[in-house]
Amino acid sequence: MAGANHPVLFLDKIERRYSQGGTTLNILKGIELGAWAGQSVALIAPSGAGKSTLLHIAGLLEHADGGEVYIDGAATSGLGDAERTRIRRTEIGFVYQAHHLLPEFSAIENVMLPQMIRGLSRRVAEKRGHELLTYLGLGERLAHRPAELSGGEQQRVSIARAVANAPRILLADEPTGNLDPHTAAHVFDTLTQLVRASGLAAVIATHNLELAGRMDRRVTLRDGYIVELA
Ligand code: ADP
Ligand code: MG
Repeated sequence: MAGANHPVLFLDKIERRYSQGGTTLNILKGIELGAWAGQSVALIAPSGAGKSTLLHIAGLLEHADGGEVYIDGAATSGLGDAERTRIRRTEIGFVYQAHHLLPEFSAIENVMLPQMIRGLSRRVAEKRGHELLTYLGLGERLAHRPAELSGGEQQRVSIARAVANAPRILLADEPTGNLDPHTAAHVFDTLTQLVRASGLAAVIATHNLELAGRMDRRVTLRDGYIVELA
């Protein structure tokens, strides 16, 4: 499946159910969703619909109960944990609602760490961290620790960290959920700009319809299935 026309991420008939107190909750019943390079997809659905579950499965953090996750055309369900971890580190970036930055490290160190874990030298990691943070408007904040940054700045550092290893896929779970509307809009614009510029395939869960409107595509979860929105 090589070529520019296939989705970087493809979820094929994904199912996920949870057993709870003798009953089974069918959360995802047959998810079909593709995300293409350079495209941002907004996933808009109420709380409890299964957005986080879907993102965790797409990001190989959780196994599906049925169906297949294709990354760059390759099936992932048969892979072992080591290979799934490798794909997660190199091909997939995550942004969460809370920034999860390491408090004792500076902004640039937080962006350098995933690169060094992957085996890049300190010098290369620092250069990339500097470029990314500058691109995201944080060139004057490189040495600041998370506590010395605003909420919007913290999330922009999280975005830089998520793409530090130049992944193909970006998954974000309500990344602006903790921010005021003005800051949220700024972070969102930064995110969508980065997605286009780096050719990422992005799926971003959000409650914010106004921000979702600025993305390339909108989908929702209805009764365990993906429905495309206008
Ligand atoms: P969302 O992110 O859209 O708010 P989630 O994916 O977190 O939704 O959860 C979807 C549904 O699955 C919820 O009803 C939730 O209670 C249930 N759920 C999620 N994780 C578990 C789990 N580990 N065990 C049982 N139920 C779960
Ligand atoms: Mg959630």
